Amino acid sequence: MRACLRPISAISRPALQRPSTAMASRSFHRSTPARNVQEITRPAIETPVSLWNFTEEEEMIRDTVRRFAQDVIAPRAREMDENEVMDKEVVNGLFENGLMGIETSPDHDGSGCSFTSAIIAVEELAKVDASVAVLCDVHNTLVNTVLRLYGSEDIKKKWLPGLATNTVGSFCLSEPNAGSDAFGLQTTAKEDGDHYIINGSKAWISNSGEADTFLVFANVDPSKGYKGITCFVMSKDMGVQIAKKEKKLGIRSSSTCVLSFDDVRVPKENIVGEIGKGYKIAIEILNEGRIGIAAQMVGVAQGAFDHAVAYAYQRKQFGKYIGDFQAMGHQFADAAIKIEAARLLCYNAARLKEEGRPFTKEAAMAKYYASTIAQQVSGSAIEWAGGVGFTRDLPLEKFWRDSKIGAIYEGTSNIQLETIAKLIRKQYVS
Ligand SMILES: Cc1cc2nc3c(=O)[nH]c(=O)nc-3n(C[C@H](O)[C@H](O)[C@H](O)COP(=O)(O)OP(=O)(O)OC[C@H]3O[C@@H](n4cnc5c(N)ncnc54)[C@H](O)[C@@H]3O)c2cc1C
Repeated sequence: MRACLRPISAISRPALQRPSTAMASRSFHRSTPARNVQEITRPAIETPVSLWNFTEEEEMIRDTVRRFAQDVIAPRAREMDENEVMDKEVVNGLFENGLMGIETSPDHDGSGCSFTSAIIAVEELAKVDASVAVLCDVHNTLVNTVLRLYGSEDIKKKWLPGLATNTVGSFCLSEPNAGSDAFGLQTTAKEDGDHYIINGSKAWISNSGEADTFLVFANVDPSKGYKGITCFVMSKDMGVQIAKKEKKLGIRSSSTCVLSFDDVRVPKENIVGEIGKGYKIAIEILNEGRIGIAAQMVGVAQGAFDHAVAYAYQRKQFGKYIGDFQAMGHQFADAAIKIEAARLLCYNAARLKEEGRPFTKEAAMAKYYASTIAQQVSGSAIEWAGGVGFTRDLPLEKFWRDSKIGAIYEGTSNIQLETIAKLIRKQYVS
């Protein structure tokens, strides 16, 4: 079955409805006892708006993805999870609906939409299946964005159209000995005439079972430490090998593999950005990617909540719906508050990024909080359904298993707290 939804690329694009951010600025001091508190200047907006404001285009994307997720993904989600395989029709549907080049410009066959559109798409997909959500997220917010922002015109022309229409991408930074300390990576790229020769191994690479385009971070001069790290784009047939597919607790239909690179020859023109600046690309892109993981976790929490609360208003005990017991209703209220707070952190970080304002701290907060509450809410959702919640007859146990990954990839929760703590310190100590 093919997705039959209107491709996003065919949707007309109304002008953004968000008020312009006039640069007439207002500034304020924080009245705290801290030393050397910095003055924070923010652009003023003419008409303040809530975070629940979206462009017509963003609303259309939400509707399109919601329908696609219900019609195409939902019927397959359990089987994909059991078999630990992503259904090809789902991947084809993502391409057909313009969801694999959300921010890519129409010149490169993409949908030319906003970053928030990508975040909305990931959230809606994760309400139904977190594996599909991470495939779409990594592909858009990491792979496409690195090529869009740092690739030469030739690279963009060569790689972006395929990524928007038929080719899945992987982002290859982590290694067996380089996880949280990603810049301790040991994969090398040795210059050889007009090529580089890549040797090494990458671990935990999402989408690598389906991918044909790989962004690979390798060190061209290990004596320079992280300042030798360089980003290369390559296709699978250049010699990327899948050494092992991981068997995981959650997001089981998302492929996660160990890759090996054995004398892989890559032309110099495949360097993305500058030689030795790969670390900068990785830092900047992961700051942004974290908002996508936050969206994935908001979706997981909401998906579990929707299923469990609906169940609670169908199931009767003691002659009434179990959802009508005050002890249950208060738990629903508590969970709903947490989901809303996580969602607002996520949308706020996305809008800050779009407005070109600092967002690193807000992105880390969004990821940390959304992954924390996704585990809490999906865990509670199992309990709300009682025994059946513990079985595979309902998707609740799957939401809970899928929620665990949010606190691990694109920087563990400890690393998010480190980032937030460093930025708080910077604000208070000169
Ligand atoms: C399913 C899955 C998909 C993934 N997809 C990708 C991908 O597509 N591309 C990619 O490049 N990577 C990917 N990763 C890798 C992921 O980003 C790393 O697993 C993550 O960064 C953690 O690294 P690690 O597993 O080596 O854990 P470690 O770094 O060994 O951490 C183990 C524990 O030590 C703690 N710790 C480590 N350092 C510190 C510190 N300084 N302070 C406090 N605590 C610390 C961590 O918080 C954690 O609790 C994926 C991982 C998984 C599991």
